[in-house]
Amino acid sequence: MNSEIEKKIESLVESAEESLRESFLEIDRRTFAIQKKVLKAFIDNRVSDSHFAWRTGYGYNDDGRDIVEKVYAQVFSAEKALVRTNIVNGTHAISLAILGVLKAGDKLLYCTGEPYDTLQSIIGTEGAPEPGTLRELEIDYGSIELIDGEFDYDSIEKIIKEENPKMLAIQRSTGYGWRKTITVNQIEEFVNLVRSLGSSAVIMIDNCYCEFISLNEPSAVGADIVCGSLIKNPGGGLALSGGYIVGREDLIDRIAFRLTCPGIGSECGLTFGQTRAMLQGFFMAPHITAGALKSAILLGEVYSKLGFEICPDSSMERADIIQAIRLGSPEAVSAFCKGVQSASPIDSFAAPVASEMPGYDDDIIMAAGTFVQGASIELSADGPMREPYNVYYQGALTYEHGKIGLLSSLKSLEEEGILDI
Ligand SMILES: *Cc1c(COP(=O)(O)O)cnc(C)c1O
Repeated sequence: MNSEIEKKIESLVESAEESLRESFLEIDRRTFAIQKKVLKAFIDNRVSDSHFAWRTGYGYNDDGRDIVEKVYAQVFSAEKALVRTNIVNGTHAISLAILGVLKAGDKLLYCTGEPYDTLQSIIGTEGAPEPGTLRELEIDYGSIELIDGEFDYDSIEKIIKEENPKMLAIQRSTGYGWRKTITVNQIEEFVNLVRSLGSSAVIMIDNCYCEFISLNEPSAVGADIVCGSLIKNPGGGLALSGGYIVGREDLIDRIAFRLTCPGIGSECGLTFGQTRAMLQGFFMAPHITAGALKSAILLGEVYSKLGFEICPDSSMERADIIQAIRLGSPEAVSAFCKGVQSASPIDSFAAPVASEMPGYDDDIIMAAGTFVQGASIELSADGPMREPYNVYYQGALTYEHGKIGLLSSLKSLEEEGILDI
């Protein structure tokens, strides 16, 4: 690429960065408060070097495992937490929350439309029910679409009155959709409305990608269960694997019975030496998440200036680290991902290609040159190969790396003749 175009690309990014100073300052201020809250949980729980040790066999009395869960519970303002390496991903955490709480005849109602692609496999499809799905277990399921990013309270109220669903689920981040992320304020309003109707339904939140963006987490405003993945925000880029579920003690105990078995619950299970990485990652997570958030905002600003539709746009309150861009063609999505991959510390030489992935219907393309495989708190971009060809950008362990990823995506699109800067 000739150096003149390269200079143009760089100055485009730098002027966008300049225009974002105020909003970055606001993020810094909020992150400072969140960091204090996280540090306080470490101090209050007297976290110590001895907690980094681990057990074998049954894993009884593992103080490190217990302290991780106490620290999570305090930061999330929850009664109890399950934070485990053997919760294999975010989908597993959410499915444990659903299957741990609901019984045959109960109804699960998603209040943010159809859930994330991988959750569809848990619900089960038409025809003979697949083993272990909600359909096979005779757990009823329904969903209500959002209206312009807001809850459809009329329909929710109607279903609560007519069918008394046992669980109301909220997926905050859009997944491979195109809408604003659900904010903690929206959740608070939702909780108040549901309770004012006299419903005691369990309110379950898919909190993936939203941790540490707001001062409070959903469990602080009345959500009963909150779930997420440790290779996203709360792992801080250091946790090797795992998921968390926090919330009401009676519910977490039930879910722990589902994770292991009745009678054992959360009393067993090894940490496999992951306690230190989990704690250190959680400690760093507010800062790492803030950097990822700033990277997303910068990327959105630049692509929007270039005339692409973006989500969220500058008019929407952000509540996660995702930036979606409507690129409009499979070639553009590939070029974007290629650019991001080539700016990665790991596997920079690889060119991402779309392929089948477990739990997804469409082929997925994914740039993730990450230290932890598939960790999307690290610089990454992905999207399903379907109309209207959106790419979803997230993560970066440092803001600087996010900016480099952005520059590289622009160069790649320019080289492929998709952009003309
Ligand atoms: C990432 C994500 C999940 C869980 O995905 P895993 O890959 O299983 O960790 C669930 N819901 C949303 C909205 C997500 O972004």
